[in-house]
Amino acid sequence: MSGASSRTGTSTGEYASVEYLLAKRAILREFKAGQIAKSDLCDAHPDLIRAAKAVGVPSGEVCEVCQVGDIVHISYAFGPKLPAHGRCIAGSDELAKLRANFDEFTCYVVEVCPECHWNHLVRRF
Ligand SMILES: [Zn+2]
Repeated sequence: MSGASSRTGTSTGEYASVEYLLAKRAILREFKAGQIAKSDLCDAHPDLIRAAKAVGVPSGEVCEVCQVGDIVHISYAFGPKLPAHGRCIAGSDELAKLRANFDEFTCYVVEVCPECHWNHLVRRF
C-alpha cells in the first residue's frame, strides 16, 4: 500500500475493480435472463442493510435489480487485528484513524440496495 489518496488507487486496485465490475455485469445478465433468482442476489445481511442506511454513501446509481432503490456504498476494513466480521468505515476520518493504528488491513467496498437488499463487492484496496 502506497499511502496515496484512496481516490487514485494503484493499478492493481483498478484492475481488481474492473474484475468486480465484470462479475457484476455477468450476474445481472444471468438475473435478467432468469437464470438466477432474485432471492439469491438480494441476500444482504440485516447488519449490512442497517449499515447501508446509517453510514452508506449514496452512489447516485439506481439499483439495476429492482430499478427503484438508490445504491449506497459501504466500506469495511478487514485485518489481523480487526474484528473477524470486519469493521465498518463510516467516513474518511475513520479510514485515516485505521491507517494510523493498523499496519495491515484491507478495505472492501460493497454496494447495497436498501430496497431489495442487492449487494455486490465493488472494489478492494
Ligand atoms: Zn434494488
